[in-house]
Amino acid sequence: MNKPVENKNFSETAPCTRNIDEALREASKMVNLIKTPEADVSDSERQWVAESTYQNFANHINKGFLEYRKSVTETSDFALTDWQGEGSILRDVLGREYIDMLGGFGLYSPGIRHPKIVAAAKAQLDRSPQYSQEMLDPLRAHLAKVIAKLTPGDIQYGFFANSGTEAVDGAMKLAKLYTGKSGFISTLKGFHGKSLGALSLLGKAVYRQPLLPLLNNVHQVPYGDADAIEEALRCAKEVGNDIAGVVVEPIQGEAGAIEPPDDYWPRLREICDKYEVLLIADEVQTGFGRTGKIFGVDHWNVTPDIMCFGKALGGGVIAMSGFFSTAKIWKCMEPNPFMHTTTTGGNPVACAAALAAVTVLVEEDLAGQAAEKGEYIKKKVNELQQRYPQILNGIRGRGLLLGMEFPTDEIGYKVASGLFSRGVLTAGTLTNAQTIRIEPALTISYELIDEMLKRLEDTFISLG
Ligand SMILES: *Cc1c(COP(=O)(O)O)cnc(C)c1O
Repeated sequence: MNKPVENKNFSETAPCTRNIDEALREASKMVNLIKTPEADVSDSERQWVAESTYQNFANHINKGFLEYRKSVTETSDFALTDWQGEGSILRDVLGREYIDMLGGFGLYSPGIRHPKIVAAAKAQLDRSPQYSQEMLDPLRAHLAKVIAKLTPGDIQYGFFANSGTEAVDGAMKLAKLYTGKSGFISTLKGFHGKSLGALSLLGKAVYRQPLLPLLNNVHQVPYGDADAIEEALRCAKEVGNDIAGVVVEPIQGEAGAIEPPDDYWPRLREICDKYEVLLIADEVQTGFGRTGKIFGVDHWNVTPDIMCFGKALGGGVIAMSGFFSTAKIWKCMEPNPFMHTTTTGGNPVACAAALAAVTVLVEEDLAGQAAEKGEYIKKKVNELQQRYPQILNGIRGRGLLLGMEFPTDEIGYKVASGLFSRGVLTAGTLTNAQTIRIEPALTISYELIDEMLKRLEDTFISLG
């Protein structure tokens, strides 16, 4: 059912062989272009970027992507080539403009290139871009204090890394070290990243099965069902499978903005205490304002034992992640602080971006903005649902972690590609479009939201 990529007359290149002169030539060409002010980039250079990117993906990254991405398959001339952006507008290298309703899956919470965050990262780049690995790094320590102040309850100590999956892996190691136990409970359709540790928790066969065996003693149960977690813990105990932690997303993101019942998190807290296992909240997507509170768990006033962060932590500017816990739990990391290390995680530029991102989060009340705009979009989309019940089932989620649900994959894909052809970027691939996530920057203007809603209705009309 994949559409072939049409109108792309690019030549296949010869098999790649070693050529150091060519490596230098190619690298220099792009470095020069990076340094060229945007206004001075010529049309032919733009054309070169668009063509060579497509070709390079085919020859050096993965041809598969070229068949799955709407930004490739639905573009009549050249595939969209990521180039420039600002706030909630994305511009490809050929100057085509899109309203960004995807927000990099939650990465761009403060908007693309928020000036305060970019300025902090640039300034730090000029002072010291990386860490000596021996001297004490002031930004890392300061950011840890700031995050400790931002998090609920007595969360106090943390470790920074580069990606969400690393944060989850670190949290798993901490839970195992602290409890001396091996196992985990996670949820069906849950998403925690794709490194081998985090993948063990993931709730979908398609990504796990070909890689089995993963970590053992990991058990997935239905999401939103506290009884299922309790039953899994009870059974594990009965057969002697020691469980270190329960890893859950406050609201499931990747699964399509699935909210749990209101008593879910308070009950998880009770159950984990009862069975003496750690409650680990994967806030990689829900953290830093996305769902209308600073953290997802804040909706239910629950303090987890460990929290994982990523995506928006770096302010949409630098890759950044981390996991945090209480002083009591963190003590197990003190005798040998080298039990968990990273060379580039929490580097000074990433910390500078994260510190600036926290100032934006609080000063601009990103959580409040998400709550208000989320309610507005839900109300408007529900009105559309009344008018087009054959196309749209409804909308769910909290804050600006929303999912529109369609009767079938096929209708969802048609809506996503209809939006795309009208200049609105959303998620939803050919194989999984029954839910389309709406996850824009929390700073998106009401003007752009209304424009998106108008184009959404145009799309519905065109589908009859
Ligand atoms: C995106 C995501 C991850 C993985 O983050 P990466 O940076 O892609 O490794 C983990 N957990 C959740 C809840 C996520 O949404």
